[in-house]
Amino acid sequence: MIIPKKSKLTEAQYQEVNTILSEFDCSITPIPGATRTIYAIRGDERHETMINRLEGLSYISKVDTVQSPYKLLDITASLATHRITIGGKTLGRDFLVVAGQCTIDPKNPNYFYETAAGVKEAGAHVLRGGVWKPRTSPHSYQGNSKAIEILMQAHQKTGLPVNTEVMDEEQLEIAVDAGAHMIQVGARNALNYSLLKKIGEKTSGKGTVILLKRGLHMGPLSEFICAAEYIVAQGNPNVVFCPRGTVPGMDGYRNHPDESITPLLKQKTWAPVVVDPSHSVGKAIYVPQCALAAVAYGADGICVETHCSPKNGIGDDPKQAIVPDVLKNLVIDAAKLFEVTKKYQGYLVQSAE
Ligand code: PEP
Ligand code: MN
Repeated sequence: MIIPKKSKLTEAQYQEVNTILSEFDCSITPIPGATRTIYAIRGDERHETMINRLEGLSYISKVDTVQSPYKLLDITASLATHRITIGGKTLGRDFLVVAGQCTIDPKNPNYFYETAAGVKEAGAHVLRGGVWKPRTSPHSYQGNSKAIEILMQAHQKTGLPVNTEVMDEEQLEIAVDAGAHMIQVGARNALNYSLLKKIGEKTSGKGTVILLKRGLHMGPLSEFICAAEYIVAQGNPNVVFCPRGTVPGMDGYRNHPDESITPLLKQKTWAPVVVDPSHSVGKAIYVPQCALAAVAYGADGICVETHCSPKNGIGDDPKQAIVPDVLKNLVIDAAKLFEVTKKYQGYLVQSAE
């Protein structure tokens, strides 16, 4: 990773760096952040002569050669000072609440508008709404591109930034071009490397935040972190980890709540964690406690399915969605608990050394 002295390289400097890298069969990808751009080296960046020549350039501050399969997201990477901001909240410093319907019903847009108003009133910061849905059965409702207009209309009405899941490149184009502020990669696509790369490429430099769910069958932590690394390596450093429950090991909850993964992630990577308690436990009555447990484990935020009238919802909403009144209390209590758990973040980092 190349860190320039100024906020970004000029065109001439970029060309000079690229020429040096190509002599060593390496190339360069810019990763634009909010205030500065750093440059990832593709290829084997360990050549001593190459590093020396790059560091000899007057406009280069340093060449960071972290040896890790996720060298950009590694806790020791230079990118660790990068901060992600959405809905006026800076992750890590401020608690983030993403809330809204599992699925937007294009036949009943007023439910979504009412949910959006309720989510805003409850104090959440990002509005979620599923336009396209990954359904187990091909006969279940699959989503509809028309719902993107409803989502963006709700953004206009509330001023809240919006989140939606994309499953392929066509949906990605539609969502980004419509102006979605947060793009969700669902549990089923969390290891779809071609999609992850396309997302990184398409959203590079746009400030879009990517909410990457934990894949159902993901094993080692590195699998999760490397999936996010694919997005960052294509130019978008605004990636957020989203544990959402893993394959159930007992009957009861829809999935096995995995919010205890957060302290482990935080020792290895700088990227924030926003936990989805809704898909973990899969039933509205269990959601608030799972959400608070996630905060106690050090999450930077939560993503909660919320509907103004769950029984009239589609997708997961009738079972999983909490109502805006419950969300309101959760936003207050989670933010309080977040302030308590923040005190222990330093302890965690010290212990990692
Ligand atoms: C969702 O957020 O509605 C969803 C389908 O999530 P997941 O990919 O975690 O199942
Ligand atoms: Mn859902």
